[in-house]
Order: sequence, then C-alpha cells, then structure tokens
Amino acid sequence: MTYKDPLLTYHGKRDFGRTGEPRGRSGGSGAEPRFVVQIHDASTMHFDFRLQVGDVLKSWSVPKGPSTDPGDKRLAVPTEDHPLEYEEFEGVIPEGEYGGGTVIVWDHGTYRPLSHDRRGRPVPFDEALDRGHVTFRLHGAKLRGEYALTRFRGDAGGGKDEAWLLVKAREEGTRKAGRATPDPRRARSVRSGRTLHQVAAEAQGADGR
Ligand code: MN
Repeated sequence: MTYKDPLLTYHGKRDFGRTGEPRGRSGGSGAEPRFVVQIHDASTMHFDFRLQVGDVLKSWSVPKGPSTDPGDKRLAVPTEDHPLEYEEFEGVIPEGEYGGGTVIVWDHGTYRPLSHDRRGRPVPFDEALDRGHVTFRLHGAKLRGEYALTRFRGDAGGGKDEAWLLVKAREEGTRKAGRATPDPRRARSVRSGRTLHQVAAEAQGADGR
C-alpha cells in the first residue's frame, strides 16, 4: 500500500501502552488491529463480531454472543466484510432495509494476532483465516484474553453453510466473574452507555414520531 498515514507524527510521539490518549483510526505502523462487537436487534437478535484485517472488518454473526466461559462454543456465521468505519456505527437501520433494527457498540478495542504454524512461526492473520483457524488476544473494555475462531463447516469465502465456532481459550489466572454472556437487552454500549431500547427510543424521538 502506498497509503501515507496522516497521523504518522502523532503516533511517533506517543506510546499507546502508556498514554490513554486516542490512537486514532488510521492505523499507523505498529498500531494493533481493531475489533468491535455490536449487538443487533434485527429480525433475530444477534451479536456481530468483527476483526480488522487490512482495511476491512471481517465479520461474523454470533447468535448467542461471545462467551467468557472456555466451555462455551459459540456458533459464528460469516457475513460480508464491512468498512472500518462500521466500528462506530450505533443507531437504527430502517425497517425494511437490509439488517433493519437497532445496533449498539457493545465492546471495542484492539487485538493481537496469535496464530502460529506447527513450527511456531507466526502466520499472517489473513492466511490463517483462509485456512479456517485463527487465535487472537482481545484488548477490549469488556472482552479480554485469548479467543479462537475455527471453521467447522463449509469452505473459505463460502457457501451458505459455512460456519465457525468462537471459543474463549483456557488461561491461567482468569477467574469467572458474573455472567459469561451479556443479556443483549440489558447490555450497554461501550460508546454511549445506552441500551438498545434507549438508542431506538432516541432515534424515534429524532424522527418526531
Ligand atoms: Mn447484524
């Protein structure tokens, strides 16, 4: 890519492991890729799990949502790549449109790709995805730690029956605290603190209905 990072100077002056200042979206060299989990109250309630790979968000629909319990295997059905800016989308998709319903940003942050080959060498994340197995460490406000996504049905770029599992890795020193999976109707946006209901009500108010 010949793309020049407009925040090169800004990034160069800061250590984002030490400062709480925003890293910015343009992803300068050394910036970790982003992830986002949205809750989408469409015809069926689901979570949308998205990982930045290059300049798109690779996306899966996770009906039950990601679990912090390593014993839970969560179905994750691939959906189309989304633009990076989608990470910030929270609001109401009009009824009758594709995905019509309310969306909140439940969690977001960065992730570190962890996939290695059998000899322990790091594998490019997009190649590991093509092969159907990736591991990564999430650094979110809510989700933290290692997760794996594994294709168990269908082929890459696949047909309708392609399906993956999203599973939390077993790790030393992690303790269970509270629910392993949020209740989507009570969960709050990491961006705005609002519930699905509040976002929907405010959008209605803005429409003057
Ligand atoms: Mn969705």
